[in-house]
Amino acid sequence: MSAPAIVIGGGIVGLSLAVGMAEAGLAVIVLDGDDAEPRASYGNAGLIWVQGKGLNHPPYAHWTRRSAALWPDFAADLLASTGVDVEYDRRGGFNLCLSDAELAARAAMVEQSAARPGMPDDVAIVDPAFIRERLPDVGPDVIGASWCPTDGHVNPLFLSQALSIRARALGVEIRRGEKAEAIAMTGSQLTVRTASDLYRAARVVVAAGLATERIAATAGMTVKLKPVRGQIVVTERLPPRIAHPTPTTRQARAGSIMFGNSHEDGVTAPGTTLPILAGHAQRAIREFPFLAETRVLRSWGAIRVMPTDGMPIYARSETCPGAYAVACHSGITLAAAHARLVGPAIAADGLPDDVATLSSRRFDAAYA
Ligand SMILES: Cc1cc2nc3c(=O)[nH]c(=O)nc-3n(C[C@H](O)[C@H](O)[C@H](O)COP(=O)(O)OP(=O)(O)OC[C@H]3O[C@@H](n4cnc5c(N)ncnc54)[C@H](O)[C@@H]3O)c2cc1C
Repeated sequence: MSAPAIVIGGGIVGLSLAVGMAEAGLAVIVLDGDDAEPRASYGNAGLIWVQGKGLNHPPYAHWTRRSAALWPDFAADLLASTGVDVEYDRRGGFNLCLSDAELAARAAMVEQSAARPGMPDDVAIVDPAFIRERLPDVGPDVIGASWCPTDGHVNPLFLSQALSIRARALGVEIRRGEKAEAIAMTGSQLTVRTASDLYRAARVVVAAGLATERIAATAGMTVKLKPVRGQIVVTERLPPRIAHPTPTTRQARAGSIMFGNSHEDGVTAPGTTLPILAGHAQRAIREFPFLAETRVLRSWGAIRVMPTDGMPIYARSETCPGAYAVACHSGITLAAAHARLVGPAIAADGLPDDVATLSSRRFDAAYA
């Protein structure tokens, strides 16, 4: 098989890149796994979140905000081109604090950010009156919050659907159940081996979630990832009550409320545990007491694709020219930048300058 470009991985990161590459004029084949794969794209919280990102690395703070700024147009274009409303909404987000220790930690985060030259200054600590004006249903235990007007959210399942439709309309062929095993250089061409085929291409992008580390290594790229499980609870549908998302709670447009934000390092099995779900419920009820009377419909656990230092990775192979790898935790937040900036840059055989310091060279001992 021969194709100008191959994207390995059909999750939100792979599809965002494929759309960007196809919009730049490349014919793209997406090789994707099967339903047994862990798919963070189907199990996430749907936040387009900037506060707290890149605290130790201003270029990442700016990159995440650049993507957030691209989101309004990106969502509007997806609606116009696919008919799918991804329920994008940006009214600002709160990180609610339930104790002095939590509030002190958020205040320290804001101060640390303000003290660092070049950091955006869009996050503020706000008092209960400010919060209640915007979230009248918060409980008395909420003593403050950090607030960022740039934070928002989206429906990640509708985003997956819109990206698939958009990709196919642009001629992208999505092959499910066709897992890539390795990349190599054969003469002057890149090859991708699957169990049953050998593909030749001028451009190959690995965006296969947690499998990216192994596949990218076959093309000489160092991508360091770890699995981190997150568990989420979803309630019945209610009239609108939570107008602004928080990292632990958001209300979808259809009315259901998602809550819970847990991080289990190294856990690879999707699924849920009662102690964590109970902890989610206890916190959610302190944040929004009306939730005590709300019925829970379902819960799930999904596995994050977490770079070991938390920041996105944009790798370009030196041994296999034309091969790239992209892996990140915040694939929903960064979807607009991936489609609008990274995909077209890869189509032109490069990466945007914005991500120069987010390359995989940071994992290279010789480079450090
Ligand atoms: C609980 C939870 C909450 C989250 N909340 C947010 C949030 O609020 N905001 C946000 O921005 N992000 C959030 N994320 C992160 C976000 O979901 C991920 O960054 C994003 O979904 C990663 O997409 P991906 O395409 O890289 O990976 P995945 O969705 O895991 O997809 C990887 C794809 O690669 C395929 N694949 C695997 N191996 C191969 C192979 N060998 N060959 C071909 N294909 C292969 C798989 O079949 C799969 O389709 C959250 C994640 C979790 C788990």
